[in-house]
Amino acid sequence: MTSSRITKRVGVFGGTFDPIHNGHIAVARSALEALDLDQVLFVVTSDQWLRENPPVASAADRFHMVELAVDNVLEFTASDVDIIREGSTYTVDTLRDIRAQFDDSAELFLIVGADSASSMNRWKDAEQIGGLAKSVAVGRPGQAFAIETLDDSHPASGAEYVEGPMLDVSATRVREFLSAGEAIDELVDEPVVEYIQKQGLYRK
Ligand code: ATP
Repeated sequence: MTSSRITKRVGVFGGTFDPIHNGHIAVARSALEALDLDQVLFVVTSDQWLRENPPVASAADRFHMVELAVDNVLEFTASDVDIIREGSTYTVDTLRDIRAQFDDSAELFLIVGADSASSMNRWKDAEQIGGLAKSVAVGRPGQAFAIETLDDSHPASGAEYVEGPMLDVSATRVREFLSAGEAIDELVDEPVVEYIQKQGLYRK
């Protein structure tokens, strides 16, 4: 069905997705519903890592796992803009590239977990993010986030807060379970579990 709205509301949800887990899906779903978005793009970070803790799985594997996890949701799409672009991933570049893919009437919503929202003031050219997208912070267990306590200059101070379902899952935990030989079925979508097993990802 085509939306009768002229303005398309597009969620941009960036991450390492190493691997994508049920917490990610729940975050995107709650933003989709709370903000009445038409679409959510899951944008997978590149492999070119300047910071500590580089991703464990390759960009190609992480992207493929996102494709598998979003395949059954019409409004969700995997995006490789950050993989195609040369160099490390910075959100400001992600938003510019996504902006270029839509016509001017589209509105972009940057979806971030509460932990990422708190650190946005350390992101490259963070002051430009507000001109490209409206930020949406989604609650994450153990990550206190109170917009009213943020300084006005903080890029997340104007964010919309969505509590969401507060699923206590992280990719770190999924990787720890896998290297300990424990089942991850409760944390990760079935096709992704199968891919991880087939490819032998995250084994010790
Ligand atoms: P890792 O454990 O490897 O650091 P992660 O589980 O935090 O990974 P990322 O791919 O780094 O996953 O996260 C992408 C985005 O999803 C970030 O904005 C992060 O805050 C958010 N996010 C991830 N898991 C959750 C969760 N359970 N609840 C809310 N937000 C989440």
